[in-house]
Amino acid sequence: MDISWDSERYLNIYTNTGGGAFGYVPDLPSSGIAGQPSDRVVVDWRVFGEGGEYGWPLDLGHVLVHEVGHYLGLYHTFAGGCEDDCTASGDLICDTEPHQLPTRECLDQEECDTIDPVSNFMNYSWEICMNRFTPEQVRRMRCTLEQWRPDLGRPSQPCSSLCPGDFDGNGIVDGEDLGGLFISWGEYSGLLPCADLNMDGSISGADFGLMMLAWGPCPVDPCIGVDCDDGDECTVDYCVAGNCVHAQIEECGGVCGSKSAGNCDEVNETPGCNDAECCTEICMIDPYCCLVVWDIVCRNKALSGDYPGCND
Ligand SMILES: [Zn+2]
Repeated sequence: MDISWDSERYLNIYTNTGGGAFGYVPDLPSSGIAGQPSDRVVVDWRVFGEGGEYGWPLDLGHVLVHEVGHYLGLYHTFAGGCEDDCTASGDLICDTEPHQLPTRECLDQEECDTIDPVSNFMNYSWEICMNRFTPEQVRRMRCTLEQWRPDLGRPSQPCSSLCPGDFDGNGIVDGEDLGGLFISWGEYSGLLPCADLNMDGSISGADFGLMMLAWGPCPVDPCIGVDCDDGDECTVDYCVAGNCVHAQIEECGGVCGSKSAGNCDEVNETPGCNDAECCTEICMIDPYCCLVVWDIVCRNKALSGDYPGCND
């Protein structure tokens, strides 16, 4: 049974076990898939939305953001590795730094003479570190909307995820919404797709029942106004479904050069920074180097020789 909504007009999102991936799209829009019944985004239900079953670090719903990036024509930032011609290879985007491998955790690495784009949604970093598309990626997505998916922009009834049943989006499920449900009664006609609350293809008593359950004022996002910062530099703090999460960063904190500070002596091959004096100097300039990890950026700062303590 084809349960898709008209894929020229709607972005169909399915949650299932994801076929072994956290999420996927069958193909990019330029392949000709746009508008086909198979044109869709799939996300493993265990990483869907906030607070999913798999939990940290996949609990912020960013898998969906990433997959929609593909749906709108974006490649991975690590596509093609350290390509040199950004207009002809890799992700075909010139303002994303190329890198060889997907980023793990939130590590600042430098694989292709530039710092890897840890915060980019089209990378594989921890979700808490992902927060941006670049201007050129945004242009690519706009271009995709114009070129391959022009009908997605046609006005339609917005379906609220926080408050299904509030068809007119006024913050309350009430008689006006019920009227909309009755107008659309029967086999799915496309008149008011949001009214098919259980998404079984028809608007019936089951949807009426769900609407009665949701009757009244809509819930408010429980994370609005919640401040989760615990002041500890070695945790990442954020709110999920109204609860604060304090995720411990491994190997964080400690005396400069120690194992727990990231260890400037071993991890990055003692390059110009094998004495505590130099290490301390760099860490004063860039606290990240001692609070979180002594990474290749810290090493390069030490190697640059601009700091007296680092001149052997
Ligand atoms: Zn991907």
